[in-house]
Amino acid sequence: MDHRAETLRAQGALAMLRCAHRTPGITRAEAAARLGLSSGSAAGIMGRLRAARLLAEAPAPQTGGRGRPTAVLVPHPDGPLVAVVDITHATWTVTTAAIGGALAAAPVHRLLGQPASAVLPLVRDALAALHGPRLRAVGVAIPGTVHGRTLVEATNLRWRGVDLGVLTSLPLAVGNDASLAGVAEALRGAAQGVGVALHLTVEVGVGGVLIVDGRPVLGAAGAGGEFGHLPFGDPSRRCPCGAGGCWDLEVDGRAMARHLGRRVPADPRAFAERTIAAARNGDPAAAAACRAVAAALGRGVGALINAVDPAVVTLGGLGVDLLDVAGPALHAGTAEGVMAWRRDALPPVVPAALGSQGPAIGAAESAMALVLTEAALTA
Ligand SMILES: [Zn+2]
Repeated sequence: MDHRAETLRAQGALAMLRCAHRTPGITRAEAAARLGLSSGSAAGIMGRLRAARLLAEAPAPQTGGRGRPTAVLVPHPDGPLVAVVDITHATWTVTTAAIGGALAAAPVHRLLGQPASAVLPLVRDALAALHGPRLRAVGVAIPGTVHGRTLVEATNLRWRGVDLGVLTSLPLAVGNDASLAGVAEALRGAAQGVGVALHLTVEVGVGGVLIVDGRPVLGAAGAGGEFGHLPFGDPSRRCPCGAGGCWDLEVDGRAMARHLGRRVPADPRAFAERTIAAARNGDPAAAAACRAVAAALGRGVGALINAVDPAVVTLGGLGVDLLDVAGPALHAGTAEGVMAWRRDALPPVVPAALGSQGPAIGAAESAMALVLTEAALTA
C-alpha cells in the first residue's frame, strides 16, 4: 500500500477511536455517519482497531424498537489505560481510565497537612503498582498553580516548587484541579457543545478556566485561570499568594468565618460545609454568611462575564451548594456586577454536572489526549 493510503487508514482509525472515546455508547453506524464513512469503511476500520486491541464491540442495550440488532463501540479489554492522580487539599487518589473516560473505583487517602516529600513517594508507589503494557500515560489534577509539570504553588497544601515529573517515567499531563474540572464539564458535563464556557470551582478560594471550542485557555505555560487572584476583594486584605484584595478571600470558608465573627478556620473547606449545613437547617447567622459569600461570588462572576462573554458559566465545588442555599443572592450579585446592557440577557450560571469527580475526569482527558495520537498509537 502506498504511503498516502496508509496515512488515510491511520487517520480513519484514529478518528473512530476518538469518536468512541468522546461518545461512550455510540454505535458503529452512528460513528460512521458522524465521520462521513461508508458502512464498509467503518467495518474495515473497526476490524483493524479490534486487531490492534484498541476497540471492541458489544451488543447495544435493547431499546424495544424494530430493526437489526446493533453494536456499540467499547474499549478493548486489553486496550490502553491512563492513570489519574487526583490530589485535593485533603486527599489523594490514584485510579485509571479507559477509552470512553470511565474512572475505575479507587481508595481515597488522607493527606491533610502533610508535605509533598511525604505524599509524593506514596503516589509514585501507587502508580508503579499500576504499571504494565496497558498503561500509557498519567494525568495529575492538583489544587495549585501549574507551570509545565511543576507545581509552582499550592497555598492550601503549603506545597511550593514541586516537580511532579518524579511521579512517573510515562508521558505526563499535569493540570490545576479547577481548570481540569472545566475541561471535564466542557467534554462530558454541563457545558458540552458550548463554544465559549467559563467554569469556576470554589473550594478554598476559587479557580477555573475559560473553555473555547472544548479547549482550555490556559496561557503560555498553563498557569492561567487563577481567577481567584483577581482583585475583586478588599485591597487591605493580603492573600497567601502575595497579592492584596484577592477574590479568593471573599468566596470560601475563610470569608464565611469572617462574616460570622470567627477566627480563620484551619480547614476552610470543612468550615464552609458546616456553615452551609447550618444554613440549610435554618440557622439565620449561617444563612446570612452564605448569602454574603454568594453575593461576592456572583459579583465576580458578573465581572468575568463582562471580560470573556461566555455562553454559560458552570460553578463547581462549594459553588453548587451556594447556588442551592443562596441562589438569589448569587444571581443578584451577578446582575449587579455585569454592565447594564447585559442584565436582560445574562448567560445561565448553572451547577457543574460532574461534582467532585470533575478534576479527575479532566485529568483523564488530558492524559488520554497524549495517547489518542497517531504517533502514540503506532509506537
Ligand atoms: Zn491571591
